[in-house]
Amino acid sequence: MDIDLARTWVQAIAAAVDKHKDHLTQLDSAIGDADHGVNMHRGFSAATTALTDYTPPTVGAVLVKTGTTLISSVGGASGPLYGSAFRAIGKALDTPTADTQQFAAALAAGLASVQQLGAAAPGDKTMIDAYAPALAAFQQQANSGSDFATAARAAADAAEDGMRATIPLQARKGRASYLGARSIGHQDPGATSTALIFRALAETVTA
Ligand code: ADP
Ligand code: MG
Ligand code: MG
Repeated sequence: MDIDLARTWVQAIAAAVDKHKDHLTQLDSAIGDADHGVNMHRGFSAATTALTDYTPPTVGAVLVKTGTTLISSVGGASGPLYGSAFRAIGKALDTPTADTQQFAAALAAGLASVQQLGAAAPGDKTMIDAYAPALAAFQQQANSGSDFATAARAAADAAEDGMRATIPLQARKGRASYLGARSIGHQDPGATSTALIFRALAETVTA
């Protein structure tokens, strides 16, 4: 991962969110307030704009800028949560390039910051249910010496499995938790956008 790839990753997330905006909003209309697609689209459009006239000195600077922009442009819960994740990932990558091990450690810092802010655990039917398995898959590949693209692909596959596994869960955090048992049977919007973020990473690093 280098500075250009980090920027391309953020642009790829923006493109994926644009493409899947209606789906994300539809998922959020079932168990939330029908704004997740709009929130993600607003945030990542603002992030790509913020990166346009910015010459980042490090991989991390791209991601810190992305996180700061998400926090300032998104009103919903997902803005501060993804914002803190990207800021923590970026702070851990204070170098012009990042190898697979460094990126694994950065992703771990991102997950820790989401959990610190949102206090959700695995199984609570949130973005954590896609992020935690994606991180575990990425770490496993990094530890066994796989290249970045292989690790990113494994992470994207695990995020998608985690996303689908939110369907039978009852939400215990966020707006969906207000529905109690009625949240069962619906895929979590934030786990779905997290899967898009990891798929965008896999598609960026193989390109
Ligand atoms: P809001 O719920 O404020 O409208 P969004 O619709 O943009 O915000 O985002 C909703 C998503 O945020 C949920 O699907 C869930 O994945 C995630 N989420 C909500 N609360 C938490 C939390 N405490 N920890 C982790 N993720 C959360
Ligand atoms: Mg919402
Ligand atoms: Mg909202």
